Amino acid sequence: MSLHPITKAIRTRNERTYEMEHSSPLFLTSSFTFDTAEDMRAAFADETDDNIYSRFSNPTVKEFVDRVCALEGAEDGFATSSGMSAIFATFMALLKQGDHLLSFSAIFGSTHTVITKFLPRYGIEHSYINVNKPEEWEAAIRPNTKMIYLETPTNPGLDIVDISRISAIAKKHNIILNVDNCFATPVGQRPIDHGADLVVHSATKWLDGQGRVLGGVVVGKSELIYDIYLFCRSSGPAMSPFNAWILSKSLETLDARMERHSSNALYLAQKLENHPKINSLKYPFLASHPQHEIAKKQMFNGGGLVCFELKGGIEAGRKFLDSLEMLSLTANLGDSRSIASHPASTTHAKLSEKERREVNITPGLIRISVGLEHRDDILNDILQALDKC
Ligand SMILES: *Cc1c(COP(=O)(O)O)cnc(C)c1O
Repeated sequence: MSLHPITKAIRTRNERTYEMEHSSPLFLTSSFTFDTAEDMRAAFADETDDNIYSRFSNPTVKEFVDRVCALEGAEDGFATSSGMSAIFATFMALLKQGDHLLSFSAIFGSTHTVITKFLPRYGIEHSYINVNKPEEWEAAIRPNTKMIYLETPTNPGLDIVDISRISAIAKKHNIILNVDNCFATPVGQRPIDHGADLVVHSATKWLDGQGRVLGGVVVGKSELIYDIYLFCRSSGPAMSPFNAWILSKSLETLDARMERHSSNALYLAQKLENHPKINSLKYPFLASHPQHEIAKKQMFNGGGLVCFELKGGIEAGRKFLDSLEMLSLTANLGDSRSIASHPASTTHAKLSEKERREVNITPGLIRISVGLEHRDDILNDILQALDKC
Protein backbone atom coordinates (compact mmCIF):
# COMPACT_ATOMS: atom_id res chain seq x y z
CA MET A 1 0.00 0.00 0.00
CA SER A 2 1.50 3.36 -0.92
CA LEU A 3 0.99 5.81 1.94
CA HIS A 4 1.01 9.60 2.14
CA PRO A 5 3.98 11.10 4.05
CA ILE A 6 1.88 12.05 7.09
CA THR A 7 0.39 8.56 7.32
CA LYS A 8 3.85 7.03 7.02
CA ALA A 9 5.12 9.32 9.77
CA ILE A 10 2.21 8.53 12.09
CA ARG A 11 2.49 4.77 11.52
CA THR A 12 6.32 4.66 11.74
CA ARG A 13 7.30 3.45 15.18
CA ASN A 14 9.71 1.28 17.10
CA GLU A 15 9.01 -2.39 17.38
CA ARG A 16 6.77 -3.05 20.35
CA THR A 17 8.32 -4.46 23.50
CA TYR A 18 6.88 -7.63 25.10
CA GLU A 19 4.20 -5.38 26.72
CA MET A 20 2.65 -4.77 23.27
CA GLU A 21 2.10 -1.09 24.08
CA HIS A 22 0.31 0.99 21.44
CA SER A 23 2.07 4.29 22.15
CA SER A 24 5.86 4.19 21.78
CA PRO A 25 7.90 3.64 24.94
CA LEU A 26 10.68 6.00 26.04
CA PHE A 27 14.12 4.39 26.05
CA LEU A 28 15.69 6.63 28.68
CA THR A 29 19.05 4.89 28.87
CA SER A 30 22.60 6.07 28.29
CA SER A 31 23.90 2.75 27.03
CA PHE A 32 22.85 -0.70 25.83
CA THR A 33 24.02 -4.14 26.93
CA PHE A 34 25.37 -7.12 25.02
CA ASP A 35 25.08 -10.81 25.78
CA THR A 36 28.57 -11.68 24.61
CA ALA A 37 31.92 -10.14 23.85
CA GLU A 38 31.43 -11.19 20.24
CA ASP A 39 28.10 -9.30 19.98
CA MET A 40 29.76 -6.23 21.41
CA ARG A 41 32.73 -6.49 19.05
CA ALA A 42 30.39 -6.79 16.05
CA ALA A 43 28.40 -3.72 17.13
CA PHE A 44 31.57 -1.62 17.51
CA ALA A 45 32.78 -2.88 14.13
CA ASP A 46 29.52 -1.59 12.55
CA GLU A 47 28.70 -5.15 11.47
CA THR A 48 25.29 -4.90 13.20
CA ASP A 49 22.81 -2.05 13.82
CA ASP A 50 22.79 -2.68 17.56
CA ASN A 51 22.64 0.40 19.76
CA ILE A 52 25.80 0.98 21.80
CA TYR A 53 25.58 4.35 23.51
CA SER A 54 22.95 7.13 23.28
CA ARG A 55 25.45 9.70 22.01
CA PHE A 56 25.61 7.54 18.85
CA SER A 57 22.05 6.23 18.58
CA ASN A 58 18.97 5.53 20.66
CA PRO A 59 15.70 3.85 19.58
CA THR A 60 13.48 6.73 20.73
CA VAL A 61 15.64 9.24 18.88
CA LYS A 62 15.67 6.98 15.82
CA GLU A 63 11.88 6.84 15.79
CA PHE A 64 11.72 10.64 15.72
CA VAL A 65 14.30 10.80 12.91
CA ASP A 66 12.52 8.11 10.88
CA ARG A 67 9.30 10.08 11.15
CA VAL A 68 10.94 13.30 9.96
CA CYS A 69 12.50 11.34 7.07
CA ALA A 70 9.03 10.04 6.13
CA LEU A 71 7.63 13.58 6.17
CA GLU A 72 10.51 15.13 4.20
CA GLY A 73 10.95 12.23 1.76
CA ALA A 74 14.57 11.86 2.96
CA GLU A 75 16.89 8.85 2.86
CA ASP A 76 18.37 9.29 6.33
CA GLY A 77 18.81 11.74 9.20
CA PHE A 78 20.34 12.61 12.54
CA ALA A 79 18.73 14.39 15.52
CA THR A 80 20.53 16.90 17.72
CA SER A 81 20.06 18.81 20.95
CA SER A 82 18.85 22.00 19.21
CA GLY A 83 18.30 23.45 15.77
CA MET A 84 21.60 25.31 15.99
CA SER A 85 23.59 22.17 16.73
CA ALA A 86 22.02 20.51 13.67
CA ILE A 87 22.97 23.49 11.49
CA PHE A 88 26.47 23.71 13.00
CA ALA A 89 27.00 19.97 12.45
CA THR A 90 26.21 20.32 8.73
CA PHE A 91 28.90 23.01 8.44
CA MET A 92 31.54 21.20 10.51
CA ALA A 93 31.00 17.81 8.92
CA LEU A 94 30.88 18.94 5.29
CA LEU A 95 33.07 22.05 5.04
CA LYS A 96 36.80 22.39 5.52
CA GLN A 97 39.48 25.06 5.45
CA GLY A 98 39.42 26.91 2.14
CA ASP A 99 35.79 26.08 1.31
CA HIS A 100 33.25 28.78 0.57
CA LEU A 101 29.65 28.92 1.80
CA LEU A 102 27.05 30.98 -0.05
CA SER A 103 23.94 32.31 1.69
CA PHE A 104 22.12 35.57 2.43
CA SER A 105 21.99 37.78 5.49
CA ALA A 106 18.25 37.36 6.13
CA ILE A 107 18.84 34.01 7.85
CA PHE A 108 18.24 33.08 11.47
CA GLY A 109 20.39 35.31 13.73
CA SER A 110 22.48 32.57 15.37
CA THR A 111 23.15 30.92 11.99
CA HIS A 112 24.36 34.30 10.73
CA THR A 113 26.67 34.56 13.79
CA VAL A 114 28.12 31.08 13.23
CA ILE A 115 28.77 31.81 9.55
CA THR A 116 30.27 35.26 10.01
CA LYS A 117 32.05 34.97 13.41
CA PHE A 118 33.03 31.34 13.90
CA LEU A 119 33.48 29.64 10.51
CA PRO A 120 36.14 32.19 9.44
CA ARG A 121 38.30 31.03 12.39
CA TYR A 122 38.54 27.67 10.66
CA GLY A 123 39.28 29.18 7.28
CA ILE A 124 35.76 28.68 5.92
CA GLU A 125 34.79 31.64 3.76
CA HIS A 126 31.30 32.93 3.09
CA SER A 127 29.51 35.52 1.02
CA TYR A 128 25.92 36.71 0.94
CA ILE A 129 23.65 37.60 -1.92
CA ASN A 130 20.55 39.80 -1.63
CA VAL A 131 17.69 37.43 -0.91
CA ASN A 132 15.36 39.36 -3.17
CA LYS A 133 17.77 39.31 -6.13
CA PRO A 134 17.86 35.62 -7.10
CA GLU A 135 19.75 36.46 -10.28
CA GLU A 136 22.80 37.13 -8.04
CA TRP A 137 23.20 33.49 -6.97
CA GLU A 138 25.01 32.11 -9.98
CA ALA A 139 27.42 35.03 -10.30
CA ALA A 140 28.33 34.68 -6.61
CA ILE A 141 29.53 31.10 -7.00
CA ARG A 142 33.29 30.66 -6.67
CA PRO A 143 35.45 27.70 -7.64
CA ASN A 144 35.63 26.72 -3.94
CA THR A 145 31.89 27.11 -3.19
CA LYS A 146 30.93 23.89 -1.44
CA MET A 147 27.53 24.67 0.07
CA ILE A 148 24.54 26.93 -0.54
CA TYR A 149 22.58 27.54 2.63
CA LEU A 150 19.11 28.98 2.52
CA GLU A 151 16.04 29.54 4.59
CA THR A 152 12.56 29.97 3.12
CA PRO A 153 10.34 31.60 4.27
CA THR A 154 12.97 33.78 5.91
CA ASN A 155 12.95 34.86 9.53
CA PRO A 156 11.39 37.25 10.35
CA GLY A 157 10.78 38.94 6.98
CA LEU A 158 8.94 36.00 5.34
CA ASP A 159 10.72 36.40 2.00
CA ILE A 160 10.40 33.35 -0.24
CA VAL A 161 13.30 31.78 -2.13
CA ASP A 162 12.65 29.61 -5.18
CA ILE A 163 14.20 26.28 -4.09
CA SER A 164 14.01 24.62 -7.54
CA ARG A 165 15.77 27.55 -9.15
CA ILE A 166 18.63 27.48 -6.62
CA SER A 167 18.90 23.69 -6.70
CA ALA A 168 19.36 23.77 -10.48
CA ILE A 169 22.31 26.14 -10.00
CA ALA A 170 23.70 24.02 -7.13
CA LYS A 171 23.51 20.83 -9.21
CA LYS A 172 25.17 22.47 -12.19
CA HIS A 173 28.16 23.47 -10.02
CA ASN A 174 28.19 20.35 -7.85
CA ILE A 175 27.37 22.28 -4.66
CA ILE A 176 25.49 20.92 -1.62
CA LEU A 177 22.12 22.65 -1.16
CA ASN A 178 21.23 22.88 2.55
CA VAL A 179 17.76 24.27 3.41
CA ASP A 180 16.45 25.38 6.81
CA ASN A 181 12.79 24.30 6.61
CA CYS A 182 11.88 25.40 10.12
CA PHE A 183 9.30 28.03 9.17
CA ALA A 184 7.34 26.01 6.64
CA THR A 185 7.63 22.56 8.33
CA PRO A 186 7.61 19.37 6.22
CA VAL A 187 3.81 19.51 5.91
CA GLY A 188 4.10 22.99 4.41
CA GLN A 189 7.02 22.42 2.06
CA ARG A 190 9.32 19.52 1.08
CA PRO A 191 12.65 21.01 -0.11
CA ILE A 192 14.00 17.59 -1.18
CA ASP A 193 11.20 17.36 -3.77
CA HIS A 194 12.63 20.59 -5.22
CA GLY A 195 16.22 19.33 -5.30
CA ALA A 196 17.66 20.10 -1.83
CA ASP A 197 20.37 17.71 -0.60
CA LEU A 198 19.90 18.44 3.11
CA VAL A 199 17.06 19.83 5.19
CA VAL A 200 17.60 21.17 8.72
CA HIS A 201 15.01 21.92 11.35
CA SER A 202 14.77 23.54 14.70
CA ALA A 203 12.37 20.97 16.16
CA THR A 204 11.90 23.45 19.01
CA LYS A 205 9.42 25.38 16.91
CA TRP A 206 6.44 23.95 15.00
CA LEU A 207 7.59 20.31 15.22
CA ASP A 208 7.14 20.42 18.99
CA GLY A 209 4.42 23.00 18.58
CA GLN A 210 3.82 23.42 22.28
CA GLY A 211 6.95 25.22 23.45
CA ARG A 212 8.27 22.40 25.64
CA VAL A 213 11.65 21.11 24.48
CA LEU A 214 14.63 22.07 22.33
CA GLY A 215 15.62 19.84 19.47
CA GLY A 216 17.11 19.80 16.00
CA VAL A 217 17.26 17.40 13.10
CA VAL A 218 19.00 17.16 9.75
CA VAL A 219 17.76 14.83 7.01
CA GLY A 220 18.77 14.21 3.41
CA LYS A 221 21.15 12.20 1.23
CA SER A 222 22.58 9.15 3.02
CA GLU A 223 26.21 9.82 2.20
CA LEU A 224 26.04 13.37 3.57
CA ILE A 225 24.13 12.25 6.66
CA TYR A 226 26.78 9.58 7.27
CA ASP A 227 29.49 12.26 7.50
CA ILE A 228 27.27 14.34 9.79
CA TYR A 229 26.64 11.26 11.93
CA LEU A 230 30.39 10.60 12.26
CA PHE A 231 30.98 14.21 13.33
CA CYS A 232 28.10 14.16 15.86
CA ARG A 233 28.95 10.72 17.21
CA SER A 234 32.34 12.04 18.26
CA SER A 235 31.51 15.64 19.14
CA GLY A 236 28.33 14.92 21.10
CA PRO A 237 25.34 17.17 20.25
CA ALA A 238 22.96 14.20 20.65
CA MET A 239 19.23 14.73 21.19
CA SER A 240 17.97 13.61 24.60
CA PRO A 241 15.73 10.52 24.28
CA PHE A 242 13.17 12.30 26.45
CA ASN A 243 13.00 15.23 24.01
CA ALA A 244 12.82 12.77 21.11
CA TRP A 245 9.87 11.01 22.75
CA ILE A 246 8.03 14.33 23.13
CA LEU A 247 8.86 15.41 19.57
CA SER A 248 8.05 12.08 17.99
CA LYS A 249 4.56 12.18 19.49
CA SER A 250 4.16 15.80 18.35
CA LEU A 251 4.73 14.77 14.75
CA GLU A 252 1.50 12.74 14.85
CA THR A 253 -0.47 15.98 15.15
CA LEU A 254 1.78 18.16 12.97
CA ASP A 255 -0.38 18.13 9.85
CA ALA A 256 -3.60 18.77 11.79
CA ARG A 257 -1.98 21.57 13.79
CA MET A 258 -0.37 23.28 10.81
CA GLU A 259 -3.65 23.24 8.92
CA ARG A 260 -5.22 25.27 11.74
CA HIS A 261 -2.16 27.48 12.35
CA SER A 262 -2.11 28.42 8.69
CA SER A 263 -5.85 28.93 8.28
CA ASN A 264 -5.80 31.18 11.38
CA ALA A 265 -2.78 33.02 9.94
CA LEU A 266 -4.42 33.55 6.55
CA TYR A 267 -7.55 34.87 8.27
CA LEU A 268 -5.52 37.36 10.33
CA ALA A 269 -3.49 38.43 7.31
CA GLN A 270 -6.64 39.14 5.30
CA LYS A 271 -8.27 41.05 8.15
CA LEU A 272 -5.20 43.17 8.94
CA GLU A 273 -3.79 43.78 5.47
CA ASN A 274 -5.48 47.15 4.98
CA HIS A 275 -5.47 48.32 8.59
CA PRO A 276 -4.77 52.10 8.83
CA LYS A 277 -1.91 51.62 11.36
CA ILE A 278 -0.14 49.09 9.15
CA ASN A 279 2.17 50.09 6.30
CA SER A 280 2.57 46.68 4.75
CA LEU A 281 1.80 43.11 5.75
CA LYS A 282 3.40 39.92 4.52
CA TYR A 283 1.96 36.43 4.37
CA PRO A 284 3.13 33.95 1.71
CA PHE A 285 -0.39 32.96 0.65
CA LEU A 286 -1.72 36.51 0.22
CA ALA A 287 -1.76 37.62 -3.42
CA SER A 288 0.00 40.84 -2.34
CA HIS A 289 3.14 38.96 -1.18
CA PRO A 290 6.01 39.86 -3.56
CA GLN A 291 6.91 36.19 -4.13
CA HIS A 292 3.36 34.85 -3.95
CA GLU A 293 3.74 32.83 -7.18
CA ILE A 294 6.82 31.02 -5.87
CA ALA A 295 5.10 30.39 -2.53
CA LYS A 296 2.11 28.82 -4.31
CA LYS A 297 4.44 26.67 -6.39
CA GLN A 298 6.51 25.21 -3.56
CA MET A 299 4.36 25.44 -0.42
CA PHE A 300 1.27 23.43 0.54
CA ASN A 301 0.06 26.14 2.93
CA GLY A 302 1.20 29.62 3.92
CA GLY A 303 2.44 28.61 7.38
CA GLY A 304 1.73 30.06 10.80
CA LEU A 305 3.68 33.31 10.68
CA VAL A 306 2.48 36.76 9.67
CA CYS A 307 4.57 39.91 9.75
CA PHE A 308 3.65 43.54 9.33
CA GLU A 309 5.26 46.95 9.48
CA LEU A 310 3.70 49.51 11.82
CA LYS A 311 3.50 53.05 10.46
CA GLY A 312 4.70 54.44 13.82
CA GLY A 313 8.13 52.76 13.71
CA ILE A 314 10.11 51.60 16.73
CA GLU A 315 8.02 53.41 19.37
CA ALA A 316 4.79 52.03 17.91
CA GLY A 317 6.33 48.54 18.00
CA ARG A 318 7.03 48.81 21.74
CA LYS A 319 3.59 50.31 22.40
CA PHE A 320 1.98 47.49 20.42
CA LEU A 321 3.67 44.79 22.52
CA ASP A 322 2.79 46.57 25.77
CA SER A 323 -0.86 46.87 24.74
CA LEU A 324 -1.44 43.20 23.99
CA GLU A 325 -3.66 41.53 26.55
CA MET A 326 -3.51 37.89 25.45
CA LEU A 327 -0.66 37.27 23.00
CA SER A 328 2.59 36.16 24.65
CA LEU A 329 5.80 38.17 24.52
CA THR A 330 8.46 35.50 24.30
CA ALA A 331 11.52 34.54 22.28
CA ASN A 332 10.00 31.54 20.57
CA LEU A 333 7.62 30.75 17.74
CA GLY A 334 5.54 27.82 16.62
CA ASP A 335 3.48 27.34 19.77
CA SER A 336 -0.22 26.59 20.33
CA ARG A 337 -0.32 30.03 22.01
CA SER A 338 0.02 33.07 19.76
CA ILE A 339 3.22 35.07 20.19
CA ALA A 340 4.12 38.62 19.15
CA SER A 341 7.65 39.86 18.71
CA HIS A 342 9.30 43.14 17.74
CA PRO A 343 12.77 42.28 16.40
CA ALA A 344 14.10 45.88 16.27
CA SER A 345 13.81 46.31 20.06
CA THR A 346 14.66 42.70 21.05
CA THR A 347 16.43 40.03 18.97
CA HIS A 348 18.07 42.59 16.67
CA ALA A 349 18.41 45.49 19.15
CA LYS A 350 22.24 45.19 19.25
CA LEU A 351 22.52 45.92 15.52
CA SER A 352 22.71 49.45 14.14
CA GLU A 353 19.77 50.78 12.13
CA LYS A 354 21.83 50.25 8.97
CA GLU A 355 22.72 46.66 9.89
CA ARG A 356 19.05 45.98 10.63
CA ARG A 357 18.08 47.30 7.20
CA GLU A 358 20.61 44.93 5.66
CA VAL A 359 18.86 41.97 7.23
CA ASN A 360 15.42 43.39 6.36
CA ILE A 361 14.47 44.32 9.93
CA THR A 362 12.56 47.58 9.74
CA PRO A 363 11.84 49.63 12.91
CA GLY A 364 8.11 48.86 13.10
CA LEU A 365 8.31 45.20 12.07
CA ILE A 366 6.06 42.94 14.13
CA ARG A 367 6.09 39.16 13.77
CA ILE A 368 3.09 37.14 14.87
CA SER A 369 3.38 33.40 15.43
CA VAL A 370 -0.26 32.49 15.07
CA GLY A 371 -1.48 29.96 17.63
CA LEU A 372 -4.41 27.63 17.93
CA GLU A 373 -6.69 29.93 19.93
CA HIS A 374 -9.98 30.97 18.29
CA ARG A 375 -9.04 33.14 15.34
CA ASP A 376 -11.30 36.02 16.41
CA ASP A 377 -9.74 36.17 19.87
CA ILE A 378 -6.27 36.49 18.31
CA LEU A 379 -7.54 39.10 15.86
CA ASN A 380 -9.36 41.11 18.53
CA ASP A 381 -6.29 41.30 20.76
CA ILE A 382 -4.20 42.57 17.84
CA LEU A 383 -6.89 45.07 16.82
CA GLN A 384 -7.21 46.57 20.30
CA ALA A 385 -3.40 46.84 20.59
CA LEU A 386 -3.22 48.52 17.16
CA ASP A 387 -5.78 51.06 18.36
CA LYS A 388 -3.36 52.11 21.11
CA CYS A 389 -0.25 52.61 19.00
C1 LIG B 1 14.89 28.83 16.11
C2 LIG B 1 15.48 28.67 14.79
C3 LIG B 1 16.72 28.03 14.62
C4 LIG B 1 17.54 27.53 15.78
O1 LIG B 1 16.93 26.52 16.49
P1 LIG B 1 17.16 26.23 18.06
O2 LIG B 1 16.35 25.01 18.29
O3 LIG B 1 16.70 27.44 18.80
O4 LIG B 1 18.63 26.01 18.23
C5 LIG B 1 17.19 27.88 13.33
N1 LIG B 1 16.52 28.34 12.26
C6 LIG B 1 15.33 28.97 12.39
C7 LIG B 1 14.63 29.46 11.17
C8 LIG B 1 14.77 29.16 13.64
O5 LIG B 1 13.60 29.80 13.76
